[in-house]
Amino acid sequence: MSHLLDRLQFFKKKASEFSDGHGEVSRESRAWEDSYRQRWQHDKVVRSTHGVNCTGSCSWQIYVKNGLITWETQQTDYPNTRPDLPNHEPRGCPRGASYSWYIYSANRLKYPKVRKPLLKLWRGLRKSMDPVKAWECIVEDPARAQSYKSKRGMGGFVRSSWQEVNEIIAAANVYTAKKYGPDRIIGFSPIPAMSMVSYAAGSRYLSLIGGVCMSFYDWYCDLPPSSPMTWGEQTDVPESADWYNSNYIIAWGSNVPQTRTPDAHFFTEVRYKGAKTVSITPDYSEVSKLTDLWLNPKQGTDAALGMAFGHVILKEFHVQNPSAYFQQYMRKYTDSPMLVLLEKSEGGYQPTRFLRASDLVGKLNQENNPEWKTVAIDSDDTLVSPQGAIGYRWGEQGKWNIEEREGGGGEETELKLTLINGKESAVPVAFPYFGAEVHEHFNHVDGEAIQFRHVPYRSIELADGSSAKVATVYDLLIANYAIDRDLGGDNVAADYDDASTPFTPAWQEQITGVSRDKVIQVAREFADNADKTQGKSMVIVGAAMNHWYHMDMNYRGLINMLMMCGCVGQSGGGWAHYVGQEKLRPQTGWLPLAFALDWSRPPRHMNSTSFFYNHSSQWRHEKMSIHEVLSPLADKSQFPEHMIDYNVRAERMGWLPSAPQLNQNPLTITKEAAEKGVEVKEHVVEQLKNGQLGFAAEAPDDPQNFPRNLFIWRSNLLGSSGKGHEYMLKYLLGTKNGVQCEDLGKEGGPQPTEVEWEETGAEGKLDLLVTLDFRMSSTCVYSDIVLPTATWYEKDDLSTSDMHPFIHP
Ligand code: SF4
Repeated sequence: MSHLLDRLQFFKKKASEFSDGHGEVSRESRAWEDSYRQRWQHDKVVRSTHGVNCTGSCSWQIYVKNGLITWETQQTDYPNTRPDLPNHEPRGCPRGASYSWYIYSANRLKYPKVRKPLLKLWRGLRKSMDPVKAWECIVEDPARAQSYKSKRGMGGFVRSSWQEVNEIIAAANVYTAKKYGPDRIIGFSPIPAMSMVSYAAGSRYLSLIGGVCMSFYDWYCDLPPSSPMTWGEQTDVPESADWYNSNYIIAWGSNVPQTRTPDAHFFTEVRYKGAKTVSITPDYSEVSKLTDLWLNPKQGTDAALGMAFGHVILKEFHVQNPSAYFQQYMRKYTDSPMLVLLEKSEGGYQPTRFLRASDLVGKLNQENNPEWKTVAIDSDDTLVSPQGAIGYRWGEQGKWNIEEREGGGGEETELKLTLINGKESAVPVAFPYFGAEVHEHFNHVDGEAIQFRHVPYRSIELADGSSAKVATVYDLLIANYAIDRDLGGDNVAADYDDASTPFTPAWQEQITGVSRDKVIQVAREFADNADKTQGKSMVIVGAAMNHWYHMDMNYRGLINMLMMCGCVGQSGGGWAHYVGQEKLRPQTGWLPLAFALDWSRPPRHMNSTSFFYNHSSQWRHEKMSIHEVLSPLADKSQFPEHMIDYNVRAERMGWLPSAPQLNQNPLTITKEAAEKGVEVKEHVVEQLKNGQLGFAAEAPDDPQNFPRNLFIWRSNLLGSSGKGHEYMLKYLLGTKNGVQCEDLGKEGGPQPTEVEWEETGAEGKLDLLVTLDFRMSSTCVYSDIVLPTATWYEKDDLSTSDMHPFIHP
C-alpha cells in the first residue's frame, strides 16, 4: 500500500498519551512525508523570466530536477539603483508564479502539425512534381485552395516532420516571391522587448527574403497617438522607481496592483513619505484601495475631466496668480510662446498654422530651412526664431536643443508667452466645440459648434508686404479652455459653477458624474504640489484610457495638465504611460540583426492597423463617415468621407508605410528597370506618373495585391488582438465566420474615392498561415501549419522593460 494510504489506518495508530491526554504518541509511519520533500527537490536552479507583454521582466529562479521544472521562486539579487530608493525586488506576480503549468499543460505543442486537407494535397502532388510546382498547383486551383482554406479553425491537424513542413513553407515563399512579389510575404510578432532574440529570428528571416515585418504597438492599441501628436516621438516614460520621487500621483485608468503587480510596491511605499495619491477609475478597482481619493467618471469621459482640471489650473496658476515656475517652464519647454497666424473667417478669425521665418521680410536672417522655423516675440518686442524648431535639426550644427536662444547669433532671449494688452488688442477667434453632439451613450451639453472667444493678437508685416494677425499658442490655449481674461466677448466661464460653458468643473459634472468640488480640489492640489516641488506631480496612466476611440483626447487632456504644471521631464513628475513592454534598451546593436541591415536596407515595415483594415476588408463595411468627426471649422468639401481614402493618400505621399506596396511584383519592376538601363526609382516614378503602375492599396480585391503568406510568432494574433475578428476569418482566411452585415455595395453609405470597388469582396486572400507557438492558441487553430517553440524557461533570450533598468537574460 502507498505511504499516503498507510496514513488512513487511523484507528491503529495511537500508541500512548501524555500531558493528561493533550498529546499523543503514534506509531504512524512518516515515510509519506517524503512525497512532499521530493516535490521540492531539485538538481539545478536557472534564472529566467516571462515576458508576456506584462511589462514586468521579473527575475525568477527556476528549479529543475531530471530536466523537469519542479518549482519557481522570485529572484532577490537586484542591485540597488540609488541609495535613497527602495529595492526593485521582490518582483513577480501570481501569473508568473504559475508559469510552469503552461509548460506541462495538455495544450503544449510538441510536434509540427499541418491542416489535413492541405497535407493530403501536398503529399499527393509531391509524388509527381517539385515542391514549388506542387504549391502552385494547390493555390492557383480554386477548388483545391478552397478545400483547405474553408476548413481553417475547424481542427483536423496531422502530425508532420520538420523536413516536410520546411519544404512546404520554403516552396510557398519561393512561389509567392516569384509570382506576386516578396512583399506579399508578411510577418506579425508583438513588441520585441519581451524576447528580443526570438523576435529577431523571425524578422531577420523575413527581411532577408524581402518580406514585410508588421507593426505591433499601434495595432493592439498600446501606442498612445497623443505622444507623437504632442512630442513627435513615441512613448517616453519614467521607470516605476521614479514613482518614489513623486509627491502627488494620480493613477488614471491604471489598476496598478493588478496590472503592474511587481512595481506596485513603489506606489504604496511612496505614501509613507507623505505623497498623496488619487485614483481615477469608473469602478472601485484595486488601485482605489491604495489611494487617498477616488474619482469615478463615467467610462470614456476622461477627456472632459482632464479639460476641467486644466480649466482650474490655467485660471488659478496662470491667470489669477501666475506661478513663476510654471510660466518659465512653458516659455522654455513648450511651444506656448510661438506665434500662430489668424485668418479672417466668417464672424471673426480662425487659427491656421505657425508663423514661419520664411513668412517674414528677410526671413529673420535664416537662410537654412526658414520654412521649418517657428517664430516668437521676445521681451524687447522683436520677432525672433528661437532654437529648437525642426528647421535647426538639419543643415547646421548645435542648435537643436530647445533653449531660449535666438537662432541666428545664439544670444539669450526671453520669449513672450502672452500678447495680452487689454480689450482693444483682442479679436474673436473661432474654436470648435464637440460636446453638443447628441449621443445615445454620453450626456451632451448644448452649445454652438463654433464658439468665438476673444484672443490677444499682434499685427505683423509679411514678406509679401501684407499685414497679418498673430496670436501666441499660450493665449489660444487659455481661450480654448474658456478662461475669462476680461477681454470681452462671449463663451468664457463666469465661474466654476457655470455649467453651460465648456470645460468648467460644473460643465464636466454633467458628462462625467464627478462632483465639481472634487475636480477643483484635485486640480488645485496637483498644481500646488508641482509649483512647490518644481514639477513632482505625476500621472500614471494605463491602457484603460488608451483603448477608447478618442484616446488621443483623453491623453492630451492630462498631458496639457502636466505641461501647464511643468512636470514633464522632471524626476518624480510627468506622465507614466505603461502599456506594453516597450523599452528596447540594446536597440542599436539589435537592429542590424533583427532587420538584416548587414545585408540590405531599408527593411520593409508595414503598419498593421492600415494593413488589417485594408486586407480584412473592414473598409468594405465602414459605416462611419469622416465628416462625423471632422472639426466644425473644417471645409468638408476638402475631405473625402471614407477612411480608406486617407490611408491610400498617406501611402501615396510616403507618410505611411506601404506593403504589399505596388500593384506589380517588385522583382519584375527591378528587372524592367535593368533592361531599360535606368535606376529603379526613376523607372518607378515614371511608371507611377504615366499610370502604368499603381499602389496595391488602391485595389485590395485584385488577387495581384493580396498578402499571400502570413507568419505569426510570439503572438495570439487572432485570439487576442484580431480586431474585426470575423472580417479576418471571412476575407483573409476564407473560412466560416460571423459577419452579419452586408457591405457598402448592398447597404449603402459613403463609397471610397481612391479605391476600386468590386461588387464582391475577395475571400480567402491568404494562401498560407503559419503560427509558431508553445501552446495550441486560437491562432494556431486557424493556421495551416503550426510549429512548436520553446518557452521562456527553455531558451536563451533577452527581455527588457520600461519599468526597470535591467536587461534580463
Ligand atoms: S509580471 Fe513578472 S512574474 Fe508576472 S508574468 Fe510578468 S515577468 Fe512574470
